[in-house]
Amino acid sequence: MDRILAFGCHPDDVEFMAAGTLALLADRGYEIHIATMTGGEVGSPDLTSQQIRAVRLKEAAASAALIGAAYHYAGGHDLEVEYSAEYRRMAVRILREVNPRIVFTLPPMDYLADHEQTSLLVRNASYIASVPLYDCGAALPPMAHFPYLYYWDASGGADIFGRELPLHFGVDVTGVMEKKEQMLACHESQREWLRFHNNWDQYIETMKQHSAVQGQRIGRPHGECFIQHLGTGHPQDNILKDILGELCVEI
Ligand SMILES: [Zn+2]
Repeated sequence: MDRILAFGCHPDDVEFMAAGTLALLADRGYEIHIATMTGGEVGSPDLTSQQIRAVRLKEAAASAALIGAAYHYAGGHDLEVEYSAEYRRMAVRILREVNPRIVFTLPPMDYLADHEQTSLLVRNASYIASVPLYDCGAALPPMAHFPYLYYWDASGGADIFGRELPLHFGVDVTGVMEKKEQMLACHESQREWLRFHNNWDQYIETMKQHSAVQGQRIGRPHGECFIQHLGTGHPQDNILKDILGELCVEI
């Protein structure tokens, strides 16, 4: 069975934007992997970076386990993600380790530079993981194919200029919203941090509202919208439509 990789920047990025789609794919028997570039090392008022990372990696693994997924930490540091050789190798190591048929990641335009850099790194890794002479610093075989690559929507449904992204389709996740909520709820330390730093406690509610707004785009109660990467080399057909059928709705 094909493997599927959702690769975010911080623990909880994937849960907000793509966990419903992953839950649907897990139900259909796909092997799911969730990776994050960083371990959320700055999100605590009182713990050290190493301590909060340990907490957040545990929470991310617990969330992934709810859909039988494996969790991977790429090795980066929160608010330090950059398009560099070091980070390129981290991203390619994850791609080669998982060897996915389908990759989901952050959109190229988002509110946080860490997110945009991660998007670029994962996009690039999806392309170069199959280049035999590219040395990712680990004894992993090159991928034998270009994966399908999809970007989830920007946070808040808009780029930094307030414009909507050119979404291609949405997935109806109404039937798995409970699972999505359970997964996000695993990230309790992030919720505490946002309460402390942003005086904001709408963690689960915001996810539900966003899923409802995305659902409106496709005429369903709850949705997750995506853009397919159609750059040279990558498959051009939409494999998610084949897998999910009428749950996958073009915009
Ligand atoms: Zn994030």
